[in-house]
Amino acid sequence: MERFQNYIKEVIDWNDHIKTFLNSENIDRNDDIWEKLDQLTNVIEGISKPAELNQEQLLNLQQQVDHLHDDLESYFTKRQQIGTVYINEPFVNIGEHKLPPLPYSYDALEPYISREIMRLHHTKHHQSYVDGLNKAEKNLKEARTKGDFSLVKHWSRELAFHGSGHYLHTVFWDIMKPKGGGKPSGALLQEINKYFGSFDAFKKHFTEAAKAVEGVGWALLVWSPRARHLEILQSERHMLLTQWDTIPILVLDVWEHAYYLQYKNDRAEYVNNWWNIVNWRAVEERFDKASQLKWKPF
Ligand code: FE
Repeated sequence: MERFQNYIKEVIDWNDHIKTFLNSENIDRNDDIWEKLDQLTNVIEGISKPAELNQEQLLNLQQQVDHLHDDLESYFTKRQQIGTVYINEPFVNIGEHKLPPLPYSYDALEPYISREIMRLHHTKHHQSYVDGLNKAEKNLKEARTKGDFSLVKHWSRELAFHGSGHYLHTVFWDIMKPKGGGKPSGALLQEINKYFGSFDAFKKHFTEAAKAVEGVGWALLVWSPRARHLEILQSERHMLLTQWDTIPILVLDVWEHAYYLQYKNDRAEYVNNWWNIVNWRAVEERFDKASQLKWKPF
């Protein structure tokens, strides 16, 4: 009987795990998958007293669970094959971007990045990109409404600058964490080895690219759905020198505001220290999702 109780506990945990995942990916409640999980919940609730179940009832339960498991597996395989991104979030309305919360406290990345830098960087600099992006979107909407595009060049530049600033900083916060560092693993490490030769060769290239950004900007590791390989890019400011149709996987802010208060003009030391706070799990997750997107190769 203990074996069955363990089995039931495993099923309950598994059910919870899948539901948490679907919630985190904002899968629409109308999606068939929820119905299947609800069926499983009903089955589990029907066996709240497993001790009173006979062998036949338990086998029956096991069969139902097996069927649901198969259904779920084919559901996820299908979604992966068609490269569906699991996001059914309502889109961002024009001019309604928001500053995302930091996934850790302002002092969490010390001693590598000081509390003061993080606070200013997040609340002042990133906020100004959010505000600038919203303003550009609203002004371009007004231009469309009025049919007056006399300032389209200005607002398009603002859109590119602030939009790229907002999106890149949002990624930047997510790809760091306290006690980070080390190396990636799994498919990302394989892909790094395949394209750059080794992790050390990649790290050397990325570090040199970051140090050599002219003026202010970023170093970026990107996935190219077209070439179907990784690449390292530099960006001046937030949006110049980009290679469009690529997806940033790992990004490093080398604007002076990201390090000057602590490192003065020693960007190299900042870049070297930054590697200690990379959240490779987050980078891997970005890579896993991005690499599902594949265009016809040319
Ligand atoms: Fe920045």
